[in-house]
Amino acid sequence: MNALARNPLVALLLALCTACASDRAVIDQAADAHRELEPAVIDQGELANYIQELGHRVVDAAQAMSQEGYGGKEYTRPDAQWMFSDDLRFHLVASDTLNAFTTGGEHMYVYTQLLANCRSEDELAAVVAHEYAHVYGRHVHKGMNRQYAVLGGAVAAAILGHELAEENKEEWAAISGTLALYAGQFLSLGFTRDDEAEADQLGFDFYVRAGWDPARFGDFFQNLADQGYDEESDTFSDHPTLRSRVAAAQSRAAGLSPQAAAWRKPPVATAQRFAKLKQQALAAAAQKPKDQSLAVAQTLLASVPTCVAAKDPPEHHAARAQLKAAAAGQ
Ligand SMILES: [Zn+2]
Repeated sequence: MNALARNPLVALLLALCTACASDRAVIDQAADAHRELEPAVIDQGELANYIQELGHRVVDAAQAMSQEGYGGKEYTRPDAQWMFSDDLRFHLVASDTLNAFTTGGEHMYVYTQLLANCRSEDELAAVVAHEYAHVYGRHVHKGMNRQYAVLGGAVAAAILGHELAEENKEEWAAISGTLALYAGQFLSLGFTRDDEAEADQLGFDFYVRAGWDPARFGDFFQNLADQGYDEESDTFSDHPTLRSRVAAAQSRAAGLSPQAAAWRKPPVATAQRFAKLKQQALAAAAQKPKDQSLAVAQTLLASVPTCVAAKDPPEHHAARAQLKAAAAGQ
């Protein structure tokens, strides 16, 4: 084996290339990220069970549709069955940021601030269905592939630097710092506007099949627009505007076949219970021990791009700057 092949950076580059965002690579990365985010997870029984039950109603609908041919053969292959399994976890996390997101593997996150802003279970279910749709659409895989292209270049440059510097320890330390910075960016990957549009389309289909009211799918986006979250224009934003998402939801609901009425079911929680769960969620978030691990988890949660608003919230930029500074200081 020559010196280059023994170089750990070369090994990392090869590992990244062979991984090329397989399901396994995304699931493993999501599991790693979850260890950092776990301190913010609200594990209070009734709340945790509720989010999980609501999420699995979406998953079960997607599985039934896939068995009927929705999505094509790649969703009936044995190695795709993980995305319909009981291992998928829908987490409620203590965060003052209004967002929901997924790391693309088995973990989806709903922030307490988002739940507090939902006026009905339909609004929450629409967001949860949208997040699951990012998993189903393998959007994180696509984001990782984009990031690999950047990381591959960084590693190649670092290897060249290392080969020239031979055993120079300082150089090695600088390279490691660069890698830590790039690795940190995995968690702050954004979805493209096309990914967001597809997640709305898939999410709508799953939500309707799972039994919620088709006419209510756009309500949460309308709710945010009413609160002034639709300030960014189409031209400058990476995200679709809220009003375009509401309009798309309305036109999809109007275009449903009469058969769709047969899928309707009562919500998981009655309106009264839903209101109570919202209060419990805020109380549980406030009771989290304010330690370092919670602070790290909440900074990471604040740093990910918005999945629901037209524009990233102000705390997003502060959180990202904080993470970059931490990575650069290693
Ligand atoms: Zn999204």
